Amino acid sequence: MKHFLGKKTTIKYPETRKEYSEIYRGRHVLKRDDEGRERCTACGLCALACPAEAISMVAAERKPGEEHLYREEKYAKVYEINMLRCIFCGLCEEACPKEAIFLTKQTVNSGYRRDVFIYGKELLVESVDADKRIDVSKRQTEEVKNFKKEKNQRHNR
Ligand code: SF4
Ligand code: SF4
Repeated sequence: MKHFLGKKTTIKYPETRKEYSEIYRGRHVLKRDDEGRERCTACGLCALACPAEAISMVAAERKPGEEHLYREEKYAKVYEINMLRCIFCGLCEEACPKEAIFLTKQTVNSGYRRDVFIYGKELLVESVDADKRIDVSKRQTEEVKNFKKEKNQRHNR
């Protein structure tokens, strides 16, 4: 009777939606820098840190004239995350020395085929349009930012 009369814990989705926490670990975004260049350098640390082996990538060398596209000499020609494998632990975000990959509040869409859950760069890299960039400031604590500035840490080179 106590539970019957008490406040309901369920909501009437989709009319009512729950607010996600600012640091909810949902689908990933690959960030661009202030000039719109891709931050990822295909170093592979995120893939190495991933316990689910969900990340794969192919690195490529930046060619002359592509400096406006990629921030460093190396970039990810292919970058894929298998969302069916991912357990949204956030270790890829922690491992990245380039502030390139972050989890977001967005959820992964449902689908009927397995292949639609392989997210490539077309789904992961954020828009070049400054108005459509994804704000990740809530996920970047001062401690993390300061740690990533320490060049004597092998992780940050
Ligand atoms: S959130 Fe965790 S499981 Fe998912 S890709 Fe990143 S490291 Fe792998
Ligand atoms: S750790 Fe960061 S820079 Fe390195 S491959 Fe992953 S997303 Fe790119």
